[in-house]
Amino acid sequence: MAEPAEVAPGVFVATARTYVTTTTVVAGDGGGCLVIDPAVTVADLDALASWLAARELRPVAGWSTHPHWDHVLWSRALGDPARYATPRAVAAAERELPSLVREMEETAPGHDLALFARLRPLPGEELPWRGPRAVVLAHDAHAPGHGAVFLPDTGVLVAGDMCSDVEIPLLDAGAADGDPFGGYRRGLGVLAAAAGVRVVVPGHGHVGDAAEFRRRVAADFGYLDAVEAGRDPADERLAGPAAAAWLRAEHDRQRALGLRELTESSPPGRTPE
Ligand SMILES: [Zn+2]
Repeated sequence: MAEPAEVAPGVFVATARTYVTTTTVVAGDGGGCLVIDPAVTVADLDALASWLAARELRPVAGWSTHPHWDHVLWSRALGDPARYATPRAVAAAERELPSLVREMEETAPGHDLALFARLRPLPGEELPWRGPRAVVLAHDAHAPGHGAVFLPDTGVLVAGDMCSDVEIPLLDAGAADGDPFGGYRRGLGVLAAAAGVRVVVPGHGHVGDAAEFRRRVAADFGYLDAVEAGRDPADERLAGPAAAAWLRAEHDRQRALGLRELTESSPPGRTPE
């Protein structure tokens, strides 16, 4: 884990090597802090805990943006504060626990299972803590009950696994309503409608400013438009040798999903209006 960077007053982002994964820390009152998506390896979490201790910051609340293994981690060194997620995310994490554990063990083994994915459903839409207001923007893009956190005082949007400069939109292929593209569009719309975003922090990738946030939202809608229309998107995140093989494979799966949607919505012999 590289040294956390202060991206806005009192808001720090640490970036891990694995999948360019970010961890966000928001300083609150009296040395308390909110920790969002601490990740990824046991060593990364130890380094985070040491950094917090050196700055005399003590976790008093935790937030998991969504129920994927790399966003529901915790360590004893971070203390034992209430850790929240949206009610739909908590339900999904409970349902999927065995596969989340398996995925974690494959990539970042050794985490304390007694603390893994131990989340409580957030009552309401703001984190109950003594610090800057932290408003949850919930939707079902990428994963059920995905909850971005918006800090209105500083204009920081902690987007979870959305608005990335290194990852294409990754759909929740198993969306409960059978409409992963629609769900993603709605989620992106919720984030795009947030007023006053000055800094965007993706779950994987690099922090961006207001203009970069707008650019990423447009790129993500552009990606969805292309894939749903059966076109191959001209997306720089898929171009070049730096694009990861797993990301291209995911893109191929999403293209197949888009094509299936297209053929199902226009049965043979009938032209779509
Ligand atoms: Zn994810």
